[in-house]
Amino acid sequence: MFKALILNQQDKTTQAHIGNIDSNQLPEGDVTVAVEYSSLNYKDGLAITGAGKIIRQFPMVPGIDFAGTVITSSNSRYQAGDPVVLTGWGVGENHWGGMAQQARVKADWLVPLPAGLNAEQAMFIGTAGLTAMLCVQALEDAGITPESGEILVTGASGGVGSVAVTLLSKLGYRVAAVTGRAAQNAALLKQLGAESIIERSELEEPAKPLEKQRWAGAIDTVGSNMLAKVLTQMDYNGAVAACGLAGGFDLPTTVMPFILRNVRLLGVDSVYCPVEKRQQAWQRLSQLLPASFYQQAGQTISLEQVPEFAQAIIKGQVTGRTLVKLSD
Ligand code: NAP
Repeated sequence: MFKALILNQQDKTTQAHIGNIDSNQLPEGDVTVAVEYSSLNYKDGLAITGAGKIIRQFPMVPGIDFAGTVITSSNSRYQAGDPVVLTGWGVGENHWGGMAQQARVKADWLVPLPAGLNAEQAMFIGTAGLTAMLCVQALEDAGITPESGEILVTGASGGVGSVAVTLLSKLGYRVAAVTGRAAQNAALLKQLGAESIIERSELEEPAKPLEKQRWAGAIDTVGSNMLAKVLTQMDYNGAVAACGLAGGFDLPTTVMPFILRNVRLLGVDSVYCPVEKRQQAWQRLSQLLPASFYQQAGQTISLEQVPEFAQAIIKGQVTGRTLVKLSD
């Protein structure tokens, strides 16, 4: 038996409790993993509190990402003892996820942990870090270089935003970080590599169809009015990698930035990102992130603390990464 966070639904509300599960209750899959760390993401917050319709089948073990060691495998690519990381693929949404001491998944969903990364560091990176790397790669693929100009990152103190700031700065880009918590987080964001801090309220002013050109590229984790505003401020031929909806899923914009300034809006999804691109992104993350990245503010919590932190993350009250330690 092992410990897991189990979600059930009663009278249309989601309830979370810690329970014991036997290995033979685990879902189908060819690899069973001893989970060492999971992490708490915004999407986990939505799932665990029921604030978002993330989970449709109950009972469910949440946890959209985890890292650990293979216990058994019937797939020749993985052997007992191999360190692995998993993010996405609907794990923790429609397949039992990482907030348990064991998980059983398809081998195709796993990535071997790159040399030099341990399970704790991999979860410090997590889905959020992988998404940030994919956003940076999307800007690179769109031809945005450090010479192109300044890059704006919205939701900068969040999981995706803080890694995006770190990676961009490490790659030589000048970064402007948007935050609603400047008083609390400006110093941290500068330490991660942000050159300037933009108050969130500045980007909450109603947008004109086109505003003064300011940004060569942007990584947006917020969506809604903020993304609409950012689009109006992009340089001619600029590109925005959009990956999040922390401020809402709508996009009240006009076609003006696209048809008059050749602005490109690039969608980024990490959940079903193809394996090859995913492995390449993990390799780059392991090489680019400095040792200091793993020492930044964040918290490691127990499985028992997850419901409380899930409430906080959807209220935007959590800074940096929240790791969930599963191994004893
Ligand atoms: P997070 O840690 O909660 O960070 C979100 C940040 O956005 C917050 O820290 C806050 O930053 C800012 N924010 C929150 N509410 C806001 C509001 N109403 N208006 C403006 N800014 C607001 O979440 P995360 O894990 O970084 O994820 C960010 C977004 O990306 C989420 O929507 C998540 O669902 C999405 N995501 C998408 C993918 C994908 O594959 N596409 C993968 C992972 C995550 P400040 O306090 O600094 O303003």
